[in-house]
Amino acid sequence: MQEKDCLFCRIIRGEIPSSKVYEDEYVYAFLDIAPSFAGHTLVVPKNHYENILDIDVNEASHIFATIQKIAPAIMKATGAEGFHVLQNNNEVAGQTVFHTHFHIIPRKAGDGMTLWTPTPYESDKKRDEMARKIQVEIH
Ligand code: 5GP
Ligand code: ZN
Repeated sequence: MQEKDCLFCRIIRGEIPSSKVYEDEYVYAFLDIAPSFAGHTLVVPKNHYENILDIDVNEASHIFATIQKIAPAIMKATGAEGFHVLQNNNEVAGQTVFHTHFHIIPRKAGDGMTLWTPTPYESDKKRDEMARKIQVEIH
């Protein structure tokens, strides 16, 4: 199911132009309008889901199959030697379009992109405490 005013639903319906890379019954993949690097592609389910927590798991599985299909093509076309699959959930994590989507970002040696600064735990104990705090929240 789609939403009337959602940007990506409108792109999927063709109401807003996009540079399509791939399409099938369940997914639409197109170039990001403001890419990290040329070839940066967004893979989105055709049905509207806000984030990775509410997407239908079979559709999510199909998205992964699609990523396996098109990421090698993106690497070939751009000359990239690797790629990221990035997916932001909620505003604080950088989500700006609330129709869930997966970024495929091609990477080349020396391209200068950094993702995060590693920050070690104060101790092994602190790390284990954090693991336990998460474990008790998993239901
Ligand atoms: P987010 O920040 O939500 O993970 O990613 C949203 C992405 O959508 C951004 O990278 C942004 O450049 C891209 N984007 C936003 N508006 C449009 C648009 O109208 N067309 C295309 N092709 N990409 C868009
Ligand atoms: Zn949508």
